[in-house]
Amino acid sequence: MSEIINSRILELDPYSIPEVAEEEIKLDAQENPYPLPPNIKNKIIEKISRTDLNRYPDHKYERIRELIAEYSNTSSENILLGNGSDELILNILTACGGIGKIACAPTPTFAMYKILSQVTGTEFVSIPMEEGFVLPVNKILAVRPDVIFIAYPNNPTANCFDQEAVLKIIDNCKGLIVIDEAYYEFSGKTFADKINESSKVVILRTFSKAFSLAGIRAGYMLARKELINEFRKVQLPYNINIITQLTLEVVLANRLQALDSVKVLLKSRDAVFGELSQMEGIRAFPSEANYILMKIDRIDDVMKALDKSGIRVREFSNTELKGYLRLTIGTEEENEHFYNTILSALS
Ligand code: PMP
Repeated sequence: MSEIINSRILELDPYSIPEVAEEEIKLDAQENPYPLPPNIKNKIIEKISRTDLNRYPDHKYERIRELIAEYSNTSSENILLGNGSDELILNILTACGGIGKIACAPTPTFAMYKILSQVTGTEFVSIPMEEGFVLPVNKILAVRPDVIFIAYPNNPTANCFDQEAVLKIIDNCKGLIVIDEAYYEFSGKTFADKINESSKVVILRTFSKAFSLAGIRAGYMLARKELINEFRKVQLPYNINIITQLTLEVVLANRLQALDSVKVLLKSRDAVFGELSQMEGIRAFPSEANYILMKIDRIDDVMKALDKSGIRVREFSNTELKGYLRLTIGTEEENEHFYNTILSALS
């Protein structure tokens, strides 16, 4: 294989996604446990049934960009869509990374920043956060990255970094600053207004979480028009398929209702956090997203009990977060099931 495949690809492990049986409770991937309301789903089905699939889709998806502009308080020229925000991360690294370039991120963080850096031949520098999940501003600036990824809130720690610290990076970093706001609807915090001030700032968002649309694979980027035009060059034509486009049109036109579950999830998250905080043997960290990171004294016993109960959560064995677990907030019933399972495992 080494004569055919680049050595940097040979060294990679494929991204592993555990199989989950139908009857299991899936609390491992920060999806919204509530599907779209039936009336919105029916509008999507109706729209798809009226559309032929023999033609390529609108490659500029004008209507969707207008609707996202309205939602994000930007203009449609500031918007680019990807097949999930993962694709946009790849686009960024294709355009700004490569051999001789450096990408970095405060870690622990979302795995795709490193994986896609390796795929594109970009050197990836992990910069461990300071105690209390604090952004290591000076260490990041000292690396002089060509691209820096800041997940805000961060995955898996669920905190939003101090706003002043992020601004210091925006003001002093020479490279591209990517602020990944995948969980924006839960945190309510954004740096979107910075795209007007700086041509080095890119905001990433996704429809996979709050919007209950992980299955359609769509994310978007907010940036200055000049940057959007460059990133468009590295995308494949027609990357947003017609079914995704029709779905987005309906959901964005009905976004208030589509996002109704966010309030319920925030309430559930706070209730789960309250319960976990009272349990011995667990330290739960405050969350500004739809998941909670926790450190568990007897993680092996807890994981065995969760496994037996068919509850899937994200564990971090073989990483710096060994002994930690990330719980995605589910329905009230699922959360209760999780809580009761670990309670009996720890007692
Ligand atoms: N960014 C962060 C911080 C994430 O946690 C995730 C998904 N877990 C993504 C991006 C990717 O989302 P998408 O489904 O849009 O590819």
